[in-house]
Amino acid sequence: MEVRIEAVAKDFDRHPALHEIDLAIASGELAALVGPSGSGKTTLLRLIAGLETPGRGRILFGEEDASRLSVQARRVGFVFQHYALFRHMTVLENVGFGLSARPRALRPARAEIDRRARELLELVQLGGLEKRYPPQLSGGQRQRVALARALAIEPRVLLLDEPFGALDAQVRRDLRRWLRELHDRTGHTTVFVTHDQEEALELADRVVVMSQGRIEQAATPDEVYDRPATAFVHGFIGESSRLPVRVEGGEVFLDDRPTGLRADWEGPAELFFRPHQALVGDGAGGLAGMVTGGRRIAGVRRVELELGAAHRRVEVDLPLAQSCAPGTLLAFRPTAFRLYPLAGEGRPADR
Ligand code: ATP
Repeated sequence: MEVRIEAVAKDFDRHPALHEIDLAIASGELAALVGPSGSGKTTLLRLIAGLETPGRGRILFGEEDASRLSVQARRVGFVFQHYALFRHMTVLENVGFGLSARPRALRPARAEIDRRARELLELVQLGGLEKRYPPQLSGGQRQRVALARALAIEPRVLLLDEPFGALDAQVRRDLRRWLRELHDRTGHTTVFVTHDQEEALELADRVVVMSQGRIEQAATPDEVYDRPATAFVHGFIGESSRLPVRVEGGEVFLDDRPTGLRADWEGPAELFFRPHQALVGDGAGGLAGMVTGGRRIAGVRRVELELGAAHRRVEVDLPLAQSCAPGTLLAFRPTAFRLYPLAGEGRPADR
């Protein structure tokens, strides 16, 4: 089921939590909402669910305007960070709950509910645990029960709010891979909130980066990582180093010296690069920095460089084999940079 969010805005006590948001999530797509705390991720998810009503705009499920439909009528499946399983019900009863709670006319027979719940427990690889109670399960197992319960109502859209947030790192990584496989098999349109950018990049078909109630970029993981639309996205996704620069007469200056880079707009700007993509080798022409120190981090050497008249310090990664004695001059790859205007409007230049 396609979900379209059209010019949706939401205020709380006259403070905007979401400015006008437009977003279309394709049928069968797994979209991840990422962003810092307070950027509006949960609010957007709750609006899609029907747990909040938009101040303006509308939300479409396919061609149907869902904005005024109740939570039940929207038929969405939820999983939250803190598994809200019923402690006094068995795993099987928990999974069947959404169906058992339907009005009599729409409720399947008990045997049919149990049959479907068993099928779903097989799907989430918990076959055999039907008779257990939630306190007798691990955190990861409880989240899989919660997912089976969300799937039992045959949701039109699956909404997951930090579903693995409370679990330890290894279980999280396992569940991530498992969720991706499950999604590929079942094909539900899924919106997933996480503050973990790695989780978003690994899991999602599309990453929606939010900041201060706005969407900064909605694109594939590769695009968001390799071609961040804004300085915010560059700084938020992946590792970044940045240098304050100035564009004058089409040239980019660092501390009043030309860098050899060009742009077709004017004003204060920031030059971003990824530490592991920055360097070509010995410096001649263009931007170069002097090695001041370094240390080994896992499989790379992280080197500290100073550059510009103001001795600005940045870090870059080099292969362990590459020499980098203090005092060595190292040149940057001109294509490693992305340039963003510091304030106001403008577009990033591809360099
Ligand atoms: P987190 O990662 O911390 O969960 P988030 O990106 O999900 O953050 P939201 O929970 O959507 O952010 O909150 C967005 C903004 O709206 C915040 O400024 C928050 O304080 C505010 N807000 C959210 N819910 C309410 C509410 N019920 N009443 C008042 N303000 C709210």
